[in-house]
Amino acid sequence: MHQADVVIPGVLYRRDPVAEALPLVIDSPHNGTDWPADFDHQVTLTELMTSVDAYVDELFAHTPAVGGTLLAALFPRAYVDANRAEDDLDAKLLDGDWPHPLNPTRKTGFGMGVIRRLILKGRPLYSQPLPVEQVLHRLQTYHRPYHSALAAAIDRAHARHGVVFHINAHSMKPVGNPMNDDHGQARPDVVLSDREGETCCPAFIGRTAEVLSDLGYRVAINDPYKGAEIVQRHSDPATGRHSLQIEINRALYLDPETFERSEGFDRLKANMDTLVVELADWIQHRLD
Ligand SMILES: [Zn+2]
Repeated sequence: MHQADVVIPGVLYRRDPVAEALPLVIDSPHNGTDWPADFDHQVTLTELMTSVDAYVDELFAHTPAVGGTLLAALFPRAYVDANRAEDDLDAKLLDGDWPHPLNPTRKTGFGMGVIRRLILKGRPLYSQPLPVEQVLHRLQTYHRPYHSALAAAIDRAHARHGVVFHINAHSMKPVGNPMNDDHGQARPDVVLSDREGETCCPAFIGRTAEVLSDLGYRVAINDPYKGAEIVQRHSDPATGRHSLQIEINRALYLDPETFERSEGFDRLKANMDTLVVELADWIQHRLD
């Protein structure tokens, strides 16, 4: 793996194409484990790790070699979640008056807004409300730079090619937990989401599903995940900005006890290499 082209310590890194540039951007917002010094929580590291999409950036590390750009967060999602809107915030978390309008969604209701209230069901992350300044700091120092870097990568590719294909990459627990819509349900190998057709052209999600199915994976579309803030905010298919969300089942690559790579990691990584090669090929044909 070559070194990152851009690093904001503790916040993010970006790796640029090392082959002829193609309008392919892959971002991983939830793999970060650089725990900020002011993350004053009351839960265990094991509980925190359940919220990390561990090694997802590594799974897509082949992206620059096919001409794509890879962006990954270094901060933990339990600290501030880049896949939620800034106003998807629970007023009950705050010690003080919030200076902006709030728009809490169902995710905040489940304790999983832009600042999480619960790490697991019934398990509050904090022992007391957070100072407003602390929450503003998390948004200004982590959330906004991540979105700015993603927007810049997408804009750069779009400016050069008039079109861009973006994958927002995650991993999911093998079974939905009580904080999820699919509590108790076993999940497929991969879930692809485009907010029911809103965030990308059918051909992009169709080709991605086809490659993954050919690799032997059970693929579901928009079930149980529909796609969240990142694909919604950064897509605009009408102007050639196509985004899809991918959720990979952690049972394929992660030890559930230690959160280390399991013996399945290398095979999955090789298959994700194949996926990015096939998607680069598909994008190249659309540009020709
Ligand atoms: Zn995630």
